[in-house]
Amino acid sequence: MMRTLSAPTDILAVLERLEQAGFASYIVGGAVRSQLQGNVPHDYDVCTAARPEQVRQICSEWKTVDTGLKHGTVTALTASGPVEITTFRLEGQYTDCRRPDRVEFVTDIKADLARRDFTINAMAWSPIRGLCDPFGGQRDLQAGILRCVGDPKQRMTEDALRILRALRFLSVYGFQMEPQTRQAVLHCRSLLQHISAERITDKLIRILCGPYVGQVLTEFSDVITEILPELRPMIGFDQNNPHHSYTLWEHSVRAVEAIPPRPELRMAMLFHDVGKSACYTEDSAGIGHFYGHAKHSVPLTASALQRLRLDNTLYDDILYLVRHHDTPLGLTPKTVRRKLAVHGERYSRALLAIHKADCIGQGTAPENLTAFLKSEDLLEAVLEEEGRFKRKDLAINGNDLIRWGMQGREIGEMLAALFNYVLDDPTRNTRETLYEKFCALQKEPNHMAFTVSGMSWKHCAQEVRQLLESLPSVEYANVDLPSGRVEVMGTQISPNEIRHVLADAGYKVAI
Ligand code: ATP
Ligand code: MG
Repeated sequence: MMRTLSAPTDILAVLERLEQAGFASYIVGGAVRSQLQGNVPHDYDVCTAARPEQVRQICSEWKTVDTGLKHGTVTALTASGPVEITTFRLEGQYTDCRRPDRVEFVTDIKADLARRDFTINAMAWSPIRGLCDPFGGQRDLQAGILRCVGDPKQRMTEDALRILRALRFLSVYGFQMEPQTRQAVLHCRSLLQHISAERITDKLIRILCGPYVGQVLTEFSDVITEILPELRPMIGFDQNNPHHSYTLWEHSVRAVEAIPPRPELRMAMLFHDVGKSACYTEDSAGIGHFYGHAKHSVPLTASALQRLRLDNTLYDDILYLVRHHDTPLGLTPKTVRRKLAVHGERYSRALLAIHKADCIGQGTAPENLTAFLKSEDLLEAVLEEEGRFKRKDLAINGNDLIRWGMQGREIGEMLAALFNYVLDDPTRNTRETLYEKFCALQKEPNHMAFTVSGMSWKHCAQEVRQLLESLPSVEYANVDLPSGRVEVMGTQISPNEIRHVLADAGYKVAI
């Protein structure tokens, strides 16, 4: 069935002026493809037989900007937004796998469509001339096939970015790749090294956020590891553990699919287990373990992300989520409250999404999901009840402590201890109760309790204990693995000292 095509009034006006002046003109590319799929295009590109200088003259009723005169593009600023108008063109030789060395203007739309990447993108339409589809784009669109215009190997070699554009169309539309196009994509993948990090990153994020990302990561893992070689050891890696039905790569792919399509979540899922292969051990029963793998995943993820030149927020978010991907929020209001104090609301929510997707990706114990759903309910309840309880919401403040005889650094430390005390039970947040606790804490200055995040395995709990006991001020440390609760005894224990020694080892502390 042919869907009706159209364009906004201002675009139609541009097409009409150009046609009145005697130049064949169309909307082209993404706008035609989208409409034939039944979607509303997010922008409209116009192409025309008129030369750029003619376009400027003909479209003089609008303000125009010379966007890329060399490539034949003039932008008309219409009331409904900018419209890019590009002269029909051929592209000359490509010597750098990125850009043509020169372009040549032509008057035949078919020649212009022939330089475009895929048949579904090589269609043009105008209300006067109808649909121009010389390469069977409509047929491929209906059949769900992504096919290069012309010789696939040549097209991928000319511009290697087309390799990632291809994967993006697959991930977004769930198409199949025509076999020769597929061969060319795989064959030419090493040419991706000629493409700038920014362009790779833009396409990678679109690939990861598509609904059919699982199919792409599975079928084109060789292309993905071409740009992210850190992921290569995961492919085919047998986890040899009853909690995992899949290889590392299959597990990661399923986890990526299972998480909402936000860049930081999808990226974190892709990388969360990247450190596993390097810390694989087998116990006496021959079962595989990956103690401390979250920590090992961080530097590998960081090196990949630095190469991709992500913006700082995205970079920080992904690393944080990878680092803490396997520390559950807990199953009691108390543990959830503490974890909330460590991670904050935004990361707590993101971590829950990560835990659920990770669990779905394991494919073994769906009942574990129930536990995460319970944590989620608890998190919502805690957030609602307490309206994001902060230190400034304590019933007492630093001035009270000064009045009660404290001074200097002790004040901050005491406030932190009292804050923890209230987190455990919000009804304690009264001046009287806090004063009582204050007196008790002063009598036992050598005892301190706090929460550590990032301890997912027995081995981490052991490490935390050893690190703490290596401090001269600490005599004894007790670590409760499931809750992350740590208690230390000693003399003149300094929270800052504790924070530093644990932070250096990659643990996060809420004191
Ligand atoms: P969207 O705008 O939704 O990302 P699009 O298909 O419009 O999708 P654009 O990058 O806007 O993608 O490109 C517009 C058109 O230009 C494409 O439809 C295609 O015809 C052509 N095109 C874009 N990039 C290339 C390329 N690297 N090689 C060949 N043709 C390309
Ligand atoms: Mg577009």
